[in-house]
Amino acid sequence: MTHRLTTELRRLSFENHDSCVACGYLFKKGDTSHLGYGQNDEPLYVCDGCSDSLKETASRHYFTPRPYEIPDKETKLWRYMDFTKYVSLLSSKAIYFTRTDCFEDMFEGAKGIRKNKERWDYHYLEFFRSAIMNPPEGHVCELSEEEIEKDAQRLLKEMETGGEAHKKITFVNCWHESEYESEAMWRLYTSFLANAVAIRTSYKGLYESLGRDPSINIGRVQYIDLNKNYAGPNDAFWRKRKSFEHEREVRALLTEMKCKEEGRLIPCDLDLLIEDVFVSPHAPEWFIHLVNNINEKYSMKIKVNRSELIEEPFF
Ligand SMILES: [Zn+2]
Repeated sequence: MTHRLTTELRRLSFENHDSCVACGYLFKKGDTSHLGYGQNDEPLYVCDGCSDSLKETASRHYFTPRPYEIPDKETKLWRYMDFTKYVSLLSSKAIYFTRTDCFEDMFEGAKGIRKNKERWDYHYLEFFRSAIMNPPEGHVCELSEEEIEKDAQRLLKEMETGGEAHKKITFVNCWHESEYESEAMWRLYTSFLANAVAIRTSYKGLYESLGRDPSINIGRVQYIDLNKNYAGPNDAFWRKRKSFEHEREVRALLTEMKCKEEGRLIPCDLDLLIEDVFVSPHAPEWFIHLVNNINEKYSMKIKVNRSELIEEPFF
């Protein structure tokens, strides 16, 4: 294996994560996926059966499904913000990813509820004990029962510390999935401020505006009942409690080891990102002009829409 991973190759395997690009085989958990280059140095992401077509193998992976679902390309995504955040978006031409330990929700990245931790610990202790006692072929476990127990406890502790540490290297940017403008989201994210805007994009718009970057995962958050369930070690940042279900969140997530800041600005092509801008239902006329002026100043050709919530009824 050469470990030569070009952006094209990483992107190919990222976008086709679930299947072999040569024969269409759908990978199952535990299969091996092969990344490399074909006869003409073209990037390839293939299954065992097609691995002969590789002239160079860059890396092999044990296939695991993504811990999140990807929305359809045209799925509408919204972000509600006050005016200063909007100006900051236009002037920086970047979107802000918040470090997950800085979110208000204490359960961000959590695997479960503390009162259920004993059951979780028991499961993983058993798992670690069994792994230590049954090493891969060619090795024999020569540890005493006491040593096995000590090792299993250490691995459990490391997993716990790792979970906490992961929050410091995981950065997230959140969107609301909806076909329509939402009264509840105006209320929640802008406290019904008069000077607020919402931008609308699509899954495709968000992905492409971030440069089809294979290190940024974009997917739906799944809401689970933590009284009965746990989030798995790889799922934790893609699961939230049922009580947050109204958020219908789609998040963009990246991992960054070196960043010590509370957030990261990621360059973004705003022409690809912003499909429409809506102003708050409480916005006065002058605010609409202001948003238009700012758009012009930053050479953004975006249509500014009045909130659809101010339409008048008839009876
Ligand atoms: Zn194949």
